[in-house]
Amino acid sequence: MAKRKRVYVTPVSVTLLALALAGMFVLGFFVGKSMSGGHKVDRSILLVNETHPLSRDYVPENLVNLYEKRHSFRLSRSDIYLTYDTYLAAQQMFAAAESANMNGYTITSGYRSYERQAEVYAESKPGYAQKPGCSEHQTGRCFDVTVENVGGFETTPQYDWLRLNAHKYGFIQRYPANKSGITGISYEPWHYRYVGVDAATYITAHDLTLEEYLGK
Ligand SMILES: [Zn+2]
Repeated sequence: MAKRKRVYVTPVSVTLLALALAGMFVLGFFVGKSMSGGHKVDRSILLVNETHPLSRDYVPENLVNLYEKRHSFRLSRSDIYLTYDTYLAAQQMFAAAESANMNGYTITSGYRSYERQAEVYAESKPGYAQKPGCSEHQTGRCFDVTVENVGGFETTPQYDWLRLNAHKYGFIQRYPANKSGITGISYEPWHYRYVGVDAATYITAHDLTLEEYLGK
C-alpha cells in the first residue's frame, strides 16, 4: 500500500515544489528590482580621485583631437583631446542643444596627461589643482565647458540646459555643489564626465556622485 501511495503523491509534491520555487523566484525578482531600481551598477567605469590615482603611464585609447572632428561646440584651443566615445556623445549632446537654440558652448579642456597635470600642480596654489595621477582629466572622458564672456557658467541658460539633459547623452556633473565632502573637490559647474547613458541616468535621478554610485 505504502508503495502505491507514494506513486500517487510524488507528482503532486513535485508540482507543489515547482510552484513554491517559481513563487520564490518571482518574489526575489521584485524585491531585487525595488532595491536596485532595476539598474545594474556599471563596474567598468573608471574612478579617479585622490584615493584612486592613475599611473604615470596611463594614456586612454582612441583619443581624438576635437578640432579635427565635426563639432557643434566651440573650442578655446585647437589641441583639446577626448576619447572617441566621449567625443561622439558630446557631439550628439551639443548638436541637440543647438537644435534647442542653446548655443555658445565652449570646451576649454579635455584630456590632460600625467606630465601636464604635474606642471599644472606645480604652478598652482596649494589646494587649487589635483596631484598628478589624481586628475580625472587624465581619463580623457571628461571636459570643462563654459560660455564665453559670462561671469559664471552656472548663471547661464546653457548651464541649466546641461543640468537637465546631460544624462541623456551619458554625462554627469562630476563635482556638484553639495557633494564636495564626498568628491573631495569643490563645486565645478563646468566639469562634465562621460559614464554612459544608463549610469548617468541612474546617478542623476538619485543625486549621486561617481564615488557613491560605485560604492567607493
Ligand atoms: Zn575639469
